[in-house]
Amino acid sequence: MATSFHPPIRTLMGPGPSDVSPRVLAALGRPTIGHLDPEFVGLMDEIKGLLQMAFQTKNELTIPISAPGSAGMEACFVNLLSPGDKAIVCQNGVFGARMKENIERCGATAILIEDEWGTAVSIDKVKAAFAEHKDVKVLAFVHAETSTGVESDAKALCQIAADNGALSIVDAVTSLGGIELDVDGWGADAVYSGSQKCLSCVPGISPVTFSPKAVDAINNREHKVQSWFLDMQLVMGYWGGNSKRAYHHTAPVNAMYALHESLVMLEEEGLDLAWERHRFHHLALVKGLEAMGLKMLIAEDCRLPQLNLVQIPEGIDDGAVRSALLSQYDLEIGAGLGAFAGKAWRIGLMGQACYQENVLLCLSALDNVLAAQGASHERGAAVTAATAFYQA
Ligand code: PLP
Repeated sequence: MATSFHPPIRTLMGPGPSDVSPRVLAALGRPTIGHLDPEFVGLMDEIKGLLQMAFQTKNELTIPISAPGSAGMEACFVNLLSPGDKAIVCQNGVFGARMKENIERCGATAILIEDEWGTAVSIDKVKAAFAEHKDVKVLAFVHAETSTGVESDAKALCQIAADNGALSIVDAVTSLGGIELDVDGWGADAVYSGSQKCLSCVPGISPVTFSPKAVDAINNREHKVQSWFLDMQLVMGYWGGNSKRAYHHTAPVNAMYALHESLVMLEEEGLDLAWERHRFHHLALVKGLEAMGLKMLIAEDCRLPQLNLVQIPEGIDDGAVRSALLSQYDLEIGAGLGAFAGKAWRIGLMGQACYQENVLLCLSALDNVLAAQGASHERGAAVTAATAFYQA
């Protein structure tokens, strides 16, 4: 007979989900109430306001989709594209490819701009694509590529879209709460994120925001949105501005308590300080990794603090190191993906995982596990270097 599941207590320093704070887990366990209960409707309003804070936007259509980041991605594409439309899509890792797939599934044409994995989206290539193709409806790109640890210049890309009369769709799954994301200041039109990265909430919710321009485009659609569940006009009847909420789907009530708590924690800390914390501990981690002789694979000017791509040294068994970290230290780090599979580790410093004790745990665990694999680095140098950084 099956018995209750009790997961091990892990430290999550991979590409997400990240560590969830006990405050958020406590919120998740509070009594379930009806999803149309006036108390829950009040909570929905507060969540919308907190998401506006996190996204830095006044957009009225700022809500959590009751499904993971991939649903947020799909919501943006299916609501803004129709058969026959053209969209420029930038691919410099895994998630740009998924955007392209979404465009094509909407019956639209994807104009693909490719950049090497591990580099940022090329502004010049995007400008050239707009010069070559007229009547482009959408420019889509990933702000923070989780597969490579690269940040692209979202502000410049949104500006190019606006200058060319196109709407921008921005993947901010890994950026929200970890690095600057200024939806209104940058004029981004449709932005989606995920609950499980720098917000450190439980996985399974996707915050999205749509600008007034994007809402106009949705309201003036000629074709029905092919997804009933993600049709924003229907979803708005449930999450919309007035207090008369119509049933659309049953929101994951307890997961919304958790999202609310994670956003309260972000507001308490302050966005600027949250971004600064991610940068600070990233610098400490890099000091330690480099002192151990490990190489960061992404150029400093586009390196994400919350996702660190580290080269696997010659002769070291990728899988054996990650398994030893998990079994001996309860520490999860991520494998490389695509072009970096078997060549790099992805060390996440997201949300509640981004604190000094985790940086030091990761460095000392790697020190031991790599030494056991025969690596010849100076033992203890990593923790010494990171500690010196913290004490400076
Ligand atoms: N976009 C990016 C950049 C991501 O990192 C992820 C997940 O890792 C997704 C989209 C998809 O999100 P989810 O796995 O929550 O569906």
